[in-house]
Amino acid sequence: MLELETGSASETEALAAQLALRLVPGDVVLVQGELGAGKTTFVRGACRALGVSAPVTSPTFTIGHLYEGRVTVAHLDLYRFTEVSAAEWGDLEPYFDRTIAFVEWPEAGMAALPPARVTVALAHAGADRRRIRLDASEPALLEGLERADHRVRHRD
Ligand code: ADP
Ligand code: MG
Repeated sequence: MLELETGSASETEALAAQLALRLVPGDVVLVQGELGAGKTTFVRGACRALGVSAPVTSPTFTIGHLYEGRVTVAHLDLYRFTEVSAAEWGDLEPYFDRTIAFVEWPEAGMAALPPARVTVALAHAGADRRRIRLDASEPALLEGLERADHRVRHRD
């Protein structure tokens, strides 16, 4: 687990970019946090690092977006789901096929989604500050991420 703070949207994007460069197709990243916490900002930073040049915006009218970069990046938002049924999983599954997948509001999909390699939780910490907690299935994935600009609060 790694917990740190960023002081601007671009710092959050830079952190996401560093993480993204460690990911490979098949990886799933859950991105949690209330409205405006910076979930889409985080995904945008990751997409840029992965070579996506298309605009990265919340998938509001669709379940998700697929972006072509150096790899295919999936960006899903499960905000409108209360629970992902088997039938709905059929719609979601292609987004996880050989992509690096970022899932905003993943709570409803927990039972159906593939296991996450990383879970990111963002929280407001006053003005443009955000507290960001990262949990990885293998702790080594997060090693060294705190070496950039970000203020580390805690690591274990
Ligand atoms: P969400 O997807 O969680 O609803 P967004 O990423 O769409 O959130 O919006 C976050 C907003 O907060 C953006 O307007 C962004 O510029 C702003 N912001 C300010 N400070 C930060 C920060 N440290 N990290 C991320 N976003 C920030
Ligand atoms: Mg969003």
